[in-house]
This record gives sequence, structure tokens and C-alpha cells, in this order.
Amino acid sequence: MPCEVKLRFVVLYGSQKGQAESLAEGIAEVAEEHGLVAELSCLNHNEKYNLEKETAPVVFIVSTTGDGEPPDNALQFVKRIKKKTLTTDHYKHLCYALLALGDTNYANFCNCGKTIERRLQELGAKQFYATGYADDGVGLEVVVDPWIEGLWKAIKGALSKMASDKADLLKGEAGKSPKGTPNLSIPHVQLNLLRITDHQNCDSIKASAETVSKCATAASSSAPATQTAVSDLRPAFPAGSSVLASQSRGTASVSTSAPKTQTGNAGVPQVSLAASLTCSLPPLSESPLNVPALPPAYLDVSLQEVDSVEQIVGLLNKETLHAAPISRAVQLTRGDSVKVAVLLELDMSAHPMVTYHPGDSFDVFCPNKATEVEDMLHRLGLQDQRNHQVHISLLKDTKKKGAQVPSYMSKNISLLYLLTRCLEIRSVPKKAFVRALVEHTGDCVQKRRLQELCSRQGSADYNLYVRDSGLSVLELLAAFPSCSPPLSLLIEHLPKLQPRPYSAASSCLRHPGKLHFVFNVVEFPACSGRPAGRLGLCTGWLFDLINPVLVFPENDESSSSPALPKIHVSLRPNCSFRPPADPSAPFIMVGPGTGVAPFIGFLQQREQERKEKPEAIFGETWLFFGCRHRDGDYLFREELEGFVSSGTLSQLKVCFSRDEQEEEEEATTSAAARPRYVQHNLLLNSRHVTDILLKHNGYFYVCGDAKNMAKDVNNTLMEMIQTELQVDQLDAMKTLAGLREEKRYLQDIWG
Ligand code: FAD
Repeated sequence: MPCEVKLRFVVLYGSQKGQAESLAEGIAEVAEEHGLVAELSCLNHNEKYNLEKETAPVVFIVSTTGDGEPPDNALQFVKRIKKKTLTTDHYKHLCYALLALGDTNYANFCNCGKTIERRLQELGAKQFYATGYADDGVGLEVVVDPWIEGLWKAIKGALSKMASDKADLLKGEAGKSPKGTPNLSIPHVQLNLLRITDHQNCDSIKASAETVSKCATAASSSAPATQTAVSDLRPAFPAGSSVLASQSRGTASVSTSAPKTQTGNAGVPQVSLAASLTCSLPPLSESPLNVPALPPAYLDVSLQEVDSVEQIVGLLNKETLHAAPISRAVQLTRGDSVKVAVLLELDMSAHPMVTYHPGDSFDVFCPNKATEVEDMLHRLGLQDQRNHQVHISLLKDTKKKGAQVPSYMSKNISLLYLLTRCLEIRSVPKKAFVRALVEHTGDCVQKRRLQELCSRQGSADYNLYVRDSGLSVLELLAAFPSCSPPLSLLIEHLPKLQPRPYSAASSCLRHPGKLHFVFNVVEFPACSGRPAGRLGLCTGWLFDLINPVLVFPENDESSSSPALPKIHVSLRPNCSFRPPADPSAPFIMVGPGTGVAPFIGFLQQREQERKEKPEAIFGETWLFFGCRHRDGDYLFREELEGFVSSGTLSQLKVCFSRDEQEEEEEATTSAAARPRYVQHNLLLNSRHVTDILLKHNGYFYVCGDAKNMAKDVNNTLMEMIQTELQVDQLDAMKTLAGLREEKRYLQDIWG
């Protein structure tokens, strides 16, 4: 029998939240369709690959985390390749391609990918395919999809080039190509979508995509496209109104039941003319679709009735996890403020070993919402088996490369525990999950719509109705009532339930045995597929816990709170986002909204230090704070003003984005110059800020919203440096990069 030889290549990933990992797995899974064999490995499993001897093409898929750091499971690899002792020909035998994942909302976009690439090149490796830089800020798939499409041809090209080079070498003809010049022609990735459509006929796409013929009936005219579609026109939770306001009126609820058919007077289903989560319009509803390959199933899950199963198990590492009672809960915002911000105080006196520093954060471990877990149990038809023990093993003969039972699944857990504590049932379903759901959907119209949502043609709809609105799996299932996935599919596709980090908003010196943090209650408004608004998972849970005892600052001291529940927290030290080690160094803090939290810790610490060492020299401290209204959401106003009075804070610059111009301001400040946002106030103080940074070796800290603020502040800082130093943009960028390198420009941002 003829034996087919498949050509191998290596896929290595470094992944923090699983995106790079699932892309790497996807590549490995479809490799066979392209006549290739992929060897998949995580970068930290260095016993599974050997780049020093690798002769096959290597594909790296790496994400970036934090302030441009490598993901945890790529740290060791990056450290290894950064070793100065490695020679410039260390990887001269290596051919690589790299896909870097990042988010332009954060500084140091794709920094880990760029670092690996720079080092590979410095060590002599040759690139066989142009690097892709995918931006989660706009949708990874914009770059990822065409990059993967082009990858197959590139790998084959690299393999044949390597084979012919080897043959040349054997023939003694090696060395004809000039030394040091990469002799592989690098195919470039087309990153614009028009070109993707142009490419639709290319073989590689045909091979990986399953063409789905259009469904005879347009989804918009189907019977099950019902209440959800109608609610698109008349949202049950009108835009602009608040989930919290509604909740306090006792009216908000999350409807997760299957949508009922909305009928008109004649009993005929009403037809929505607008596109929605469940309903598409031409041309999409009539278009043939390129649907991704079905991800192979890999888990065998069974439920077993037992006398008792452990409900609270070692999932949460007992050594680093601390149960701390909430000792105080103060609502910092008032009136009809758009956001609700709450200060929580935890009593850490039972954990004297936990010493945190200003700038550190704490992970808060929250469970999934009980009503949603209940809805999920019903949806899976497993409500009577909630206390059964879950057994998870690998499916025999699974085609999934590198399949593993998720490491965070403990052995002795009940189904209820699994859905409450292990899986992020609120997570936004990835396209691969939507693709898998298609197979478990009975209704033809719903099936077609799910196919659209995971197809290349339906990308914009997926982004609009699923990704951008943060639709949860449960919400998706509610909108597609004929979809009945098995439990195993959920475990295969849902990520681990992650703790939520919060910056410490206190100093141990000022509040021994206590930890403060501040959070905004996140609100998800109603949208297509979400008939009623809901709160964020962790902030909604915390808000429910503390709601009965929430006080306003004026009654804070007098209140004697009844015993509040304990929550589980774990310290996340941040060794760089700390006040300067040298107290005489001046520093500037930019923290609008809840971004002020760590700076309260910085300033409390400084105040204590000033008291303890009155003779010491302390550098200037500046804080730029911003919010909407002076009377609504000026967080920590009294405490901040107190820091100014005591001299701990040299300059407090506050701006209000929605307040009317104040009379006194009007007289002195032109409308154009009136600061609305922190970056405007920075500009108004440009000379001082740049002097502190560039002449007095000062520090610049930014904390808060990653989406807009951090970027705007960065751009403003660059503009200020350009003006004050009279340099061009490139030089200003270099100056900023230098400050980052010296850890004098530091960010702690989230989005
Ligand atoms: P989730 O249910 O997890 O929802 C939040 C997610 O949904 C986010 O990804 C967000 O982008 C997205 N989202 C939010 N609203 C919408 C919407 N309307 N439509 C679609 N998507 C939406 N937060 C604080 O308030 N204070 C802090 O001090 C603080 N410190 C942090 C420190 C660090 C190091 C990090 C990484 C984050 C910090 N955060 C802080 C953020 C915090 O960890 C949580 O992300 C936040 O509180 C939301 O948690 P949640 O579970 O309530 O929301």
C-alpha cells in the first residue's frame, strides 16, 4: 500500500487568555486538510520542541499581556532567547512565521510578538511569511483570517525551498546565495477585507472552508425570529436608562428563557424588517457562506449520582487565597450619576502575612450568577442532575491536536459547582463555538443564522451582535431556542472563570489590617439578543452583596454595619507600578474616575512617611483627576483636598467633562481652553509636567480606562514633548520610549 508522506511543521503558542492557544489549535487541526502535519506545543513546554535542531518551518502565535509583557506561558521562552550569550547564528537554520496578537488600546501593542521576532532575527532565523499584527481593539479576525489563509501556501513554499536548498547543499552547490541574505521570498499578508474577497477563489480557502448553500427561506421571515427581533425595535430596557436604577425599582430581570413567538392580531408571526442577532437581511441572508471547519470534539463527559461530592475544592489555591470579610461599603457617586462607584473595605486582620504595597492589585473571585447557572442547567436539561459528580476524560480517537482535559477542572466536583465556579458562562462565544453550536441546532433558519454569524461573510454581524455587545453564551442560546448543545461542548469551549483584579486604594501604613478598593458597577444595556440590561459579573455580584448596607460618605462613620459576607481575594503584586523608591523624586499621577484608586494608596503612604520622617526631602506630587460632575462622581474629593491641605499633594488638577462652565472660570479661561478631560489639564500644565519628567528625573503614572483615556494621555504627552523640546514626532516618541524603558512612564490600565 502506498504510504502518503505528510510534511511537518511546528506551531508554538504563548497565550494568556486562550486566544493565541485556540488559534494555534485551529491551525494544527486544519493542517491535515492541507496535506501537512502540525506539531503543536505551548512555548513553556520546551521538552516538547527543540528550536536548536528544528528543520521544519515554525509558526509562532503569541499574545501580549499587561504593559507589553509576554503571557505567563511564554515568559521562560522569551527569557531564554534574550540571553546575551547567544550568537548571531544561533537560529540560522530556523525558518519562522509569526502571528502577534495585541490590542492597540494598550501601550506596547503586540510587544511580546515584536520582541520574539526581533530576537529571532538577531539570532539569524529567517522569516518565511510576513508577520501578522492582529488588534483585538478592532477585531482580531481582520488580520488573523487572511493571515491564516495565506499561511498554508507560505508553509508549502518554505518547505519546498528548504528541500531544494538541502538538495543544493548535497550537490555541493550550497552557498551560492549571498551570505546573510534571507533566501526565502516572503509572501505578504493582505490585511484589507476587499482583498480577502478577491482571494475567495484561491485553493487554500476552498480547502479550509465549507461552502454552505443559502437557506431557501430568509431568516427574517422565519417564525422563530420572534420576540428578540421585535425587542430590537422596542428594547425592553430603553437605551439611556440604568440597569441599577431599574434594579432598585425591583423591575430589572435577565430574561434567559427562550423567546416566545410574538404574534400579531391575526395570530401571524410579526416580521421584523430590521436585521438583528437572529435575523439577517440580503445580501448576507442570500449569500453563500464560507463557514470555518468544525472544531473536533475532544471531551467525554459523564455525570454520576453519588452520595456527596466536594463542593468547595482546591480549585482555588488555598495558600494564596484569602477569605476576607467586607467591613465597609460606601457609595462614592451620588444622584443620577451615570456610573455607580463603590468603595469596599476588607478586613484582612486574619491574614497578617498579606502585605500589599500601593500599586498592587487584588484578584476577586466571584461565582457565576445563581439564576444564570439555574437557567443553564435547565437549558441543558440537567436540572435534576445538578448534584451529580462530573467525570471528564479525553474522547478516544479525538482528532483534536494536543487535546487535554482543562487543567482547572478538579476531579471531585458537582455539575452545580462546575457551572458556578469553573466556567465563565458569561463569556462571549467565539466563532469556533458558534460553529460547533450549528451542529446542535434543529431549526433550519436558526442553523443558517448561526452559520452566518461564524462565517467570513457574517463577520460584521458577529462583531455587531455578539462581540461588541458582549453577548453571553446563555443569551445566544436564549435567542436560538432550537439549539441544544451537550454539556461537553460547553466545557470544551467556555474559558475558565477568571477572577477580576482591582487596584488597592489604600496603604497598609494608613489602614493596617485593611484593604480598600473601588469599583464601578459595570452595566450592559439591552441590545439585540439581550431583552433586559444586566450588570457585570463581578461588580454586579459585589453590588448585590453589599447593597443592603451601602452607605454614603456622610453617614459612613456613624453607621454600624451588620456583619457582611466574606469574599475570596488573592494578591497580585505589581513590582513596577509603585511610588518612586527615592522619596525626593517628583511624580505625576493621572487617574480619572476609578483610575484614581492606586493613587489614593500612593498618597496615603506618602502622608504617613511625611509624618514619620518630617526632616526628609519629598519630591513634588501632582494628581490629574477627571470625572463628569463635581457633585456626582468626584471620587475621594474630601480626602484629596485633605492631601493638598497637608502638603502631601503639591498640585491637584481636576476637570469635569459634563459640568457647565463655571462663572469664575469663564472670566479667566476661554471656552476653547477649558479643560474637560485629564489630557486637557496636562496640556495646560505642559511646561511643569515636562520639566518634572525630563529635567528632574520624575515619574509619570497613568491608571484607568485603556480604551480612550490612556491613548489620549499618551498622545498629549507626545505633543507636549514635541512642543517643549522643539523636536519632531519621531524624537518625541523615542523620548517616551526611553521613559518607559527607565520605568518612569508607567501605566496600569484596564478596559
Ligand atoms: P464583566 O462581566 O467581566 O464585563 C466586563 C467586560 O465586558 C469588559 O471586557 C468590558 O470591556 C466589557 N463590557 C463592559 N460593558 C460593556 C457593554 N456595555 N457592552 C459590551 N461589552 C461591555 N476596575 C475597577 O472598577 N476598579 C479598579 O480598581 C480596577 N482595577 C483593575 C486592575 C487591573 C490590573 C485590571 C486588569 C483590571 C482592573 N479593573 C478595575 C477592571 C476589573 O477587573 C473588571 O474588569 C471590571 O470590574 C468588570 O468586571 P465585571 O465582572 O463586573 O464585568
